Amino acid sequence: MNCRDVRALLSCYLDGEVDDTVRQSIEAHLAGCAPCKSEFEAISKTVRMIRRLQDLDPGKKPEPFAG
Ligand SMILES: [Zn+2]
Repeated sequence: MNCRDVRALLSCYLDGEVDDTVRQSIEAHLAGCAPCKSEFEAISKTVRMIRRLQDLDPGKKPEPFAG
């Protein structure tokens, strides 16, 4: 797997939407490729921040019939 493949799959990887084989290839690549690793860390930070904001937003509660 090359850098381009890894970067294309990073968001799916963060969402847990890749096969075990693919995940292992990504992890192996990240372990040996500093540029992709920092890209991964930047995306993962953003994703976590967005998820936290969605959790805190009272307009996005999962119960549609509340009230
Ligand atoms: Zn790379």
